[in-house]
Amino acid sequence: MITIDGSHGEGGGQVLRTSLSLSALLGRELRIEAIRAGRSKPGLAAQHLASVRAASAVCGASVRGDAMGSQELAFRPGEVRGGRWKFEVGTAGASTLVLQTVLPALLFAREASHVQVHGGTNVPWSPPQEFVNAVFLPALGAMGAQIALECLVPGFYPKGGGCIEARVTPLASALRPLDWAKRGELRSLSAWSVAEARLPAHIVRRQIDGAREALGSVGLRTHESRPDSRSPGTMLALAASFERGMAGFSALGKRGKSAEEVGGEAGEQAAAFLSGAASVDRRLADQLLLYAAIAGGRTCYVTNEVTEHLRTNAWVIAQFIDVEITIDEATGAVSVEGAGLPANGAGRW
Ligand code: ATP
Repeated sequence: MITIDGSHGEGGGQVLRTSLSLSALLGRELRIEAIRAGRSKPGLAAQHLASVRAASAVCGASVRGDAMGSQELAFRPGEVRGGRWKFEVGTAGASTLVLQTVLPALLFAREASHVQVHGGTNVPWSPPQEFVNAVFLPALGAMGAQIALECLVPGFYPKGGGCIEARVTPLASALRPLDWAKRGELRSLSAWSVAEARLPAHIVRRQIDGAREALGSVGLRTHESRPDSRSPGTMLALAASFERGMAGFSALGKRGKSAEEVGGEAGEQAAAFLSGAASVDRRLADQLLLYAAIAGGRTCYVTNEVTEHLRTNAWVIAQFIDVEITIDEATGAVSVEGAGLPANGAGRW
């Protein structure tokens, strides 16, 4: 049994989700205490509870403590099964984070999976679905994982009501490590500008103008959309693809913030990244770490910022796997000697 102090380091929902992912994947019994203890509303919120339920469904776990506000959880995983899964957050909580919780186990299952998650798709403090689609999944693709994601309905704060759908092909062999020490040339820079259908049509164009202004002369492939959704949100997401690297940046609209400011906010983050030498953005850096730890060989990448999320994830992973993770605080270089989990190896390690 592995006991995790949920208040360690960053002490938020990610400690819980990474623990759940690894418990389900490796078949290791988990006890987690002090869940989100330092947050203003501690314990499990809707998105975290949905992540617990999703993880327990895909590995047939027996669970105690799976209630709203709970600060303690006992999770005993069973056998991982692929197949058709449908999960509901029930609020505008991030559907993308629920999906991320179950992906490691499903990649190592024997059967293919079709996963629907209902909730927010573009909400604060979580990966927008565009980031998952254009940054996170291509990075996993470079490691050999085949996962296709579609956003059926976008979900903005406060009503959510969005839906994402993922098709996961089980791995045929262990994940390949990433050699992303030097990112090489920029291959493409893409922008997705979204404004809900009831909002004025000019917003999508003005968000792109704001991003272009911040980015200067770099060529940008643009995608504009005005989908129907329950809440009238807007957002701009950018994805940069390098020979050996990926990075994403985004900004959400809100009342009192101009469309140009939304685009400019994401554009400025991207411009700063492009002027440096990092191969992954600070968010992708924490999200890739688990996969690097189970890949077959040494992964290297360079983040533009060493975050508390990254350090904390390294700590959580080390509680489950005897793996060497080095994070160079000065240069942002991350190096992981992956343990080499074999394909179809879920629950049997
Ligand atoms: P809490 O409410 O306790 O802070 P949480 O469940 O909302 O928890 P965190 O623990 O903060 O989540 O983890 C958020 C995750 O979402 C991290 O992996 C982070 O990299 C990712 N993330 C947050 N914002 C973005 C963004 N704009 N783009 C991509 N990824 C993001």
